[in-house]
Amino acid sequence: MSFQNPVFIPGPTNMPEPIRQACYMPTIDHRSPMFGKILHPVLDGVRRILKSDKAHIFIFPSTGTGGWETALTNTLSKGDKVLAARNGMFSHRWIDMCQRHGLDVQVVETPWGHGLPADKYEEILKADTNHEIKVVLATHNETATGVKSDIAAVRKALDAADHPAMLFVDGVSSIGSMDFRFDEWGVDVAVTGSQKGFMLPAGLAIVGFSEKARAATETADLPRTFFDIRDMEKGYANNAYPYTPPVGLMRGLKLSIEMIEDEGLENVFARHHRIATGVRKAVDAWGLELCAVSPEVYSDSVSAIKTPEGFNATDIVTRAAEKYGMAFGVGLGEVAGKVFRIGHLGSLTDAMMLSGLGVAEMVMVDLGLDIKLGSGVAAAQEFYRHGS
Ligand SMILES: *Cc1c(COP(=O)(O)O)cnc(C)c1O
Repeated sequence: MSFQNPVFIPGPTNMPEPIRQACYMPTIDHRSPMFGKILHPVLDGVRRILKSDKAHIFIFPSTGTGGWETALTNTLSKGDKVLAARNGMFSHRWIDMCQRHGLDVQVVETPWGHGLPADKYEEILKADTNHEIKVVLATHNETATGVKSDIAAVRKALDAADHPAMLFVDGVSSIGSMDFRFDEWGVDVAVTGSQKGFMLPAGLAIVGFSEKARAATETADLPRTFFDIRDMEKGYANNAYPYTPPVGLMRGLKLSIEMIEDEGLENVFARHHRIATGVRKAVDAWGLELCAVSPEVYSDSVSAIKTPEGFNATDIVTRAAEKYGMAFGVGLGEVAGKVFRIGHLGSLTDAMMLSGLGVAEMVMVDLGLDIKLGSGVAAAQEFYRHGS
């Protein structure tokens, strides 16, 4: 692997130099107003990125997975019913976590490559007249398949059924890269991590709780200690954590939010959309197809690209690393060996993306795929020249 090359895995993402430097700092007293000057602007900033006025923000030393656990254990009790669709590896893992916590998950099996079936959710919620379902899970962006789901449609399904279940959204690979509307979509818990849209190393679970989800914590009986949001709340009131916070990462997050807002949140989304569209033009020029089945589910943060039958897609990732020092993502779970993934989120420019497409082409030609060198790059170039 070359440290000169950008990475094209869908997280951890490339770190801008100023963010790296912000993380690298001398020790300070982490129970002092000095830490409060990092903590409180970060909490306010995350709330703005979520497009919420009053979400309760909590940031744990953990990763996105710890964010899932924070969501579940603070709001639910053993045996509670949860509705979830499985359409990729990440939704699968969240379901698995529910089951291991003794929750009763109604799983809607959904073909990988498709988005969440909001109509099916609506049907199930309407049939649940006793309101036994406590939570609906939704993975906004399935990173394994490069599929974006319509969270507004899931909210509509809840409303159409007049169902009081809470809506928990995994936004780990969308928040900070793709439009996310906590208040407008009536999200009750949003989950993300530090190493994707926020361009930081892994190490933070970032969650937002609605008033309703915050209140559920008073009666929820799933065991929790490290991830108890009430302990965290008490800590925040004293510029502190219930334990030692990762101060450097928090300082990095403060800068990350400033950089995103300097560029403009909507401009960040537009940049992701433009770069992703260029990648899709290249895939098309190569004569390949995405795992995502139709344009309305195309993800702007990651593309999972299907390779021809009989070809092991993982070979692309291995050769790119060994010969060209460049990182792409392997296929996971059901699509392992069938797709390779190009991550295009975080700190990226058109020029960086062209380098990734150029290397992907060389690798595919090396491995005998019928692809013309330069074809995908040219298609992306043509788009980037005009796209804005
Ligand atoms: C990366 C990712 C996760 C897991 O996050 P970790 O930080 O690796 O624990 C969860 N959900 C989605 C959609 C992701 O992309």
